[in-house]
Amino acid sequence: MAAKIIDGKALAEQVRARVRAEVQELTAAGLQPGLAVILVGEDPASQVYVRNKERACADVGIRSLVHRLPAATSQEELLALIDRLNADPAVHGILVQVPLPPGLRADELQRAVDPDKDVDGFHPVNAGRLLLGQPGFVPCTPAGILELVKSTGTEIAGCEAVVVGRSATVGKPTATLLLAENATVTVCHSKTRNLPDVCRRGEILVVAVGRRELVKGDWIRPGAVVIDVGINRGEDKLYGDVEFASAREVAGFLTPVPGGVGPMTVAMLMVNTVKAARLAAIQGGRG
Ligand code: NDP
Repeated sequence: MAAKIIDGKALAEQVRARVRAEVQELTAAGLQPGLAVILVGEDPASQVYVRNKERACADVGIRSLVHRLPAATSQEELLALIDRLNADPAVHGILVQVPLPPGLRADELQRAVDPDKDVDGFHPVNAGRLLLGQPGFVPCTPAGILELVKSTGTEIAGCEAVVVGRSATVGKPTATLLLAENATVTVCHSKTRNLPDVCRRGEILVVAVGRRELVKGDWIRPGAVVIDVGINRGEDKLYGDVEFASAREVAGFLTPVPGGVGPMTVAMLMVNTVKAARLAAIQGGRG
């Protein structure tokens, strides 16, 4: 039987509707959530991602301010900007769009962001909180992946979950979230032996590699929930990390590319920004 296609756009719209209502309530109470985005240079994909984030903010009523800076901007200038944004009570979330032009050090900039304004969840403090099971900001893509899995109604506890890819921004936090939901998690990477066999164990299979159509239908356990995170630009269109046509014959649920994980990533950024605004209000003096 053909897999049910998980509609990431529709799920993202549901999330945004909840966020919109929360933003209205906060704004009426004098606390309009604000997101500052730092975009350096002319990377075309980054320009598109930032425009999508601006549009999403406008859609839910979050005030967004994009700092578009030339590629020649120095690390020191960026650190000074982040300091100002950290101190600005109208800014609740700060994100530095990556990749940055050569010579700039993204990890140092991400570390400079106040962990309580780190809506990307990339600060080591938030990575540590996630690992320790403490409250904090969860990176947007992994948070979106978890929502997509939950939307299928699958009981995650006790499931065999396989995550392909171990990046600090997608693979590792996704594995940590699934573990926190009591899945039995296997994490694969470029040195994994017999990758197809390992993938076939997964009742939940998350693929975040960045290789066009790496995972074939016969790597998938029949009925599995398959989340394709990959974005690979082909000559004609975007491709995922999963071969869609063969996968849909085997999987129980499958996300499309585009229209799966991508929209949820942006929606979870809105969720994190509202959370940051609430946190500021609780801490006082920032809202
Ligand atoms: P990275 O390049 O940081 O990580 C890729 C991971 O894949 C690494 O852990 C690497 O292993 C592993 N890998 C590479 N080749 C293989 C292979 N042949 N077999 C098994 N594992 C392999 O990528 P990201 O995590 O940042 O992104 C992954 C994909 O997700 C990309 O296509 C990216 O564009 C997309 N993406 C999509 C988002 C969305 O919103 N939809 C958001 C973020 C990312 P090793 O560690 O051993 O090198």
